[in-house]
Amino acid sequence: MTETSKAASDPKTAAGPTTATAPRTVTPYPGPAARRIIDRLRAVEGAGPRTGGADAPLVVAGAHGAVIVDPDGNEFIDLAASFAAANVGHSHPDVVEAIRDQVGRMSHVSSASASEARVVFEEALVEVAPAGLDRVLLGLSGADANDTALKLARSFTGRREVIAFSGGYFGRSGGVIGLNGKAVHRATVGREAEANFLPYPYPYRWPMGPAQDAGVGALALVRHALEDPASGIGPVAAIVLEPVQGNGGIMVPPDGFLAGLRELCDRHGIVLVFDEIQSGFGRTGRLWAADRWGVVPDLMTVGKGIGGGMALSAVLGREAVMSHWPPGTHTSTFMGNAVNLAAGTAAIGVMRRDRLWERSERLGSGLLHSLRRDLADDPRVGEVRGLGLFIGIELVIDRVSRTPDPASAARVRRAAFERGVLLGVAGHTDNVLKICPPLTIDEHELDIAVGILIDTIKGAP
Ligand code: PLP
Repeated sequence: MTETSKAASDPKTAAGPTTATAPRTVTPYPGPAARRIIDRLRAVEGAGPRTGGADAPLVVAGAHGAVIVDPDGNEFIDLAASFAAANVGHSHPDVVEAIRDQVGRMSHVSSASASEARVVFEEALVEVAPAGLDRVLLGLSGADANDTALKLARSFTGRREVIAFSGGYFGRSGGVIGLNGKAVHRATVGREAEANFLPYPYPYRWPMGPAQDAGVGALALVRHALEDPASGIGPVAAIVLEPVQGNGGIMVPPDGFLAGLRELCDRHGIVLVFDEIQSGFGRTGRLWAADRWGVVPDLMTVGKGIGGGMALSAVLGREAVMSHWPPGTHTSTFMGNAVNLAAGTAAIGVMRRDRLWERSERLGSGLLHSLRRDLADDPRVGEVRGLGLFIGIELVIDRVSRTPDPASAARVRRAAFERGVLLGVAGHTDNVLKICPPLTIDEHELDIAVGILIDTIKGAP
């Protein structure tokens, strides 16, 4: 029995679907029960979330392992890990048990008070962090953690400017929306850019042409920005990036890029911030994505999967950068929530015990190979790329023009959804199908879901 099917049949969590049946279509989507919830939601909720889009959103009634069930009994295989957050799987029994145990004792603890749940989580996080990142500050969301990292970098250096990259994503809060590559995120809510944007190395669409080395070129542009006194940029407090971009389209940096940034930051006294909120916690086949290149930042933000399904994030960092704020500088009412922290400790325990990053590496490299083989002849598949269970399929109108094809990506995603497979869409123009399942996904489930996906891509009009 695999880990996931064990979890699904565990009597403690048995209310959910079993992995043996997914995907399962009981009614065309949305069925009557889902429809009722969507209608009620749309009657009460403000605009802005994607649930208000043209397509009926998924209504989730239960979630276990990599399977989501809707209120009509339809079962879906979650190749998107619900925003790449269910790294240890939905409702992992260890996490559920830790939550039950903690909530019976206490949940809300103000951030001005200490608790054992808080110190245990922080110690567990430091134990799995890259060497040298041995201080923690807590948060509740990824945006929260990035906001804290940005404030730390600015107050530590006494500088204000930031370098970020095309395609980057850091969240939607006021503090970090200005770092996102997609300007539309700001335009719709009246915010301004907070960073100097440089191109992230994207070999498939490198502006100087495919023959040029994107990693070398991107690094040269950063060097120019920092070292030419007339570049218009500086003095720079922080360089902020995801070591492997997620929402930017699963962008893997060429070898040498992260090390080159490390060297430039050291030379210029700049705080290097890696956002490992999506790329970390086993996702790319290493515990942290940057481990693959042996590069350690000054600050690293974590979120999503780290909470095992609960709202939890953190900044990890070097002593010097993390220890210069006076007491009272960093607070938030629910930051020390003991239930979230207990869930996070349990999720880290599962990650370590089951060495899920190794599973991610093994399943992901097999998947990358089979996707490249099976889609080799499809002219609409421009590139298949990724690391571990973090894979992007870039769809184009044709392979010569490389014109992005977001309409195809939306169609494939919806067609796969209708056959019970959940996918993400990413990329500068939303033309990259994103595969990032729970790292605990049952291998048989993964095969079935990927078979449906390939079929859907090949059958797309
Ligand atoms: N950073 C990265 C790389 C992300 O992918 C996300 C969310 O998708 C965030 C930050 C923001 O996290 P949250 O939505 O929890 O604020």
